[in-house]
Amino acid sequence: MTRSRRNFLATGLALPVVASATRSEPEPQTPARPQSPVKAFASGPEFRYKVLGKTGLKVTTVGFGCMITSDGSVVERAADIGITYFDTARGYQSGNNERMVGAALKKKRKDIVLSSKTAGKTKTEALAHLDTSLKELGTDFLDIWYLHAKDKPADVTDDLIEAQQIAKKAGKIRFAGVSTHAGQKELIPFLAANRNIDVILTQYNFSMEPFMNEAIDQATKAGKGIVAMKVMAGGFRRPIPGNVVQEKLKREGAMLAALKWVLRNPNVHTTIPSMTDMDQLDDNLKACANPFSAADEKLLALQMDHIRPMYCRMCGECAGQCRQGLPVADVLRFLTYADGYGQFALGRERFLEMDTEHAAVRCGECPGCTVKCPYGVEVAQRLIRAQDLFAC
Ligand code: SF4
Ligand code: SF4
Repeated sequence: MTRSRRNFLATGLALPVVASATRSEPEPQTPARPQSPVKAFASGPEFRYKVLGKTGLKVTTVGFGCMITSDGSVVERAADIGITYFDTARGYQSGNNERMVGAALKKKRKDIVLSSKTAGKTKTEALAHLDTSLKELGTDFLDIWYLHAKDKPADVTDDLIEAQQIAKKAGKIRFAGVSTHAGQKELIPFLAANRNIDVILTQYNFSMEPFMNEAIDQATKAGKGIVAMKVMAGGFRRPIPGNVVQEKLKREGAMLAALKWVLRNPNVHTTIPSMTDMDQLDDNLKACANPFSAADEKLLALQMDHIRPMYCRMCGECAGQCRQGLPVADVLRFLTYADGYGQFALGRERFLEMDTEHAAVRCGECPGCTVKCPYGVEVAQRLIRAQDLFAC
């Protein structure tokens, strides 16, 4: 049995989340903090709500990640039927996503929690981004403003923290957050101990290692709001003609099972699955009322086997192993945008943003790959595919 298989069974499925970390903690099926009663709709989904740590913001456990949504009517409908958390970023869709999200949520602004992010490297740049975000979103303030995609404590500079404090004092943001794709083992405890950070937006899904449950548990105890992204572990839901297993996964709802897996962790306050159309919205809403089941567990085991050669969980263990200096996890993430989410343009855009030296590397010309993935990702093959798809 491979290491990834062992880790998956031990942490993701066979053992309940969090209970494996601390025996005194409740089983995940029993929420650690009281939730407000289920809100019933006359003809629609039943939502559950949690309080986002010490922010006091009450949010639906299923939120909306707007990164790859182009159709504003999907966002608008989600708000109309009761989703209350919406997430975007200054950089999404080449800066166009905020405009679409703002227009879609205009009538609901006072009823929802709205977050955006900045990838600005300095206080000045970040604050300029914030002003643009507010203008594009058509709002006077953000509920949460994240420093975007920080993977180590050193990325969360005093300068950027100061930008968030200035924005808070000016009434442009209510709460400060940090988003992270990788490096959570070190970063989440760092953020949990940082009194200036109110909310942590982190990658979290059924492929994660046990330390993630412990880190999230500790951050929650420190009063941080926890928002989960990448909850479907790359998706990979598009039909592959003739692939019987993939067809079964799609037919039986592996993506819904993945979302339910995340929702059963009482320390995750909300989630931001991507949704591009009404069908995806309706599918995700089914997770609100249906608990994770033994059938879901089996389905996710199958899904894990299916995605293992493709899905990079950005653990960082292979960092520095490429003899040509490739940022392997980043390139694999760009490929996941295309192969997993069906967002070719996004993947290529990110690939071409890399420095020219890395964008020019061709793995096929490299004798023997030095990168070893303990989780079974076929690194060189995947990188060759990324280079074939995206490179100039
Ligand atoms: S390729 Fe494997 S080792 Fe490298 S970051 Fe991804 S999951 Fe981790
Ligand atoms: S095959 Fe690609 S990833 Fe592997 S060492 Fe060579 S350049 Fe790096």
